[in-house]
Amino acid sequence: MEIGRVLDWIFPRFCLRCKSEGSSWCQSCAITFSPRPAEACCAFCHASGPQTCKDCRSETFLDGLTSVAPYGNAVVREALTNWKYHADPETGKAIDLWIRQSVGVRDRSLFPSDATITFLPLHASRRRHRGFDQAEEVARSLASAIGTSHQSLLKRTTATASQARRSASERRVGDLDGIFETVGPVPESVIVCDDVCTSGATIDAAAEALKKAGAKRVWGFVVAQGSRP
Ligand SMILES: [Zn+2]
Ligand SMILES: [Zn+2]
Repeated sequence: MEIGRVLDWIFPRFCLRCKSEGSSWCQSCAITFSPRPAEACCAFCHASGPQTCKDCRSETFLDGLTSVAPYGNAVVREALTNWKYHADPETGKAIDLWIRQSVGVRDRSLFPSDATITFLPLHASRRRHRGFDQAEEVARSLASAIGTSHQSLLKRTTATASQARRSASERRVGDLDGIFETVGPVPESVIVCDDVCTSGATIDAAAEALKKAGAKRVWGFVVAQGSRP
């Protein structure tokens, strides 16, 4: 018996949505499910509209955020967790499809052709441990959906702010400043990708580093946005 089948027998897989046994994302759910698009809202206070709202703009760097689905969507949330910790390729394929579908129904002006697509990198050690960087996979899917490629523009600094130890939902904008630095020349227009945006603190730390290095417009793109229900 090949190793994959042995593993399936020891650790049976169940569809994330309908819980049928066999795979983590069954064929019927792949055909029938696509997440309801998230309403466009401010990454920080969730006021409606695709751009960072007027109140948050004075203390943040990110110009706006587009997300595929609300974090409150249980199937999407479970898929992201499964993908992140088990690097499951079937789940990765489903998420890639949701990203493509989402780009297909959005206003193309959100993804201007002169924008460079990048991602929030993991620490090198964590990336080695996981074997892949889910934020980079999001960037790859987005870039391929709009017919371009992604670039690496950021790296994590070794100094991690003490506030970074706070849980994601307790973090405030500014807590994570300094955790990213830029790599190489930074273009004027950047779309920075991640899997999830909760408080907006992490993506804003990246936007700050990019703007200090010369970017004029930094837009975010994530699979899921908002807080856990
Ligand atoms: Zn299913
Ligand atoms: Zn706001």
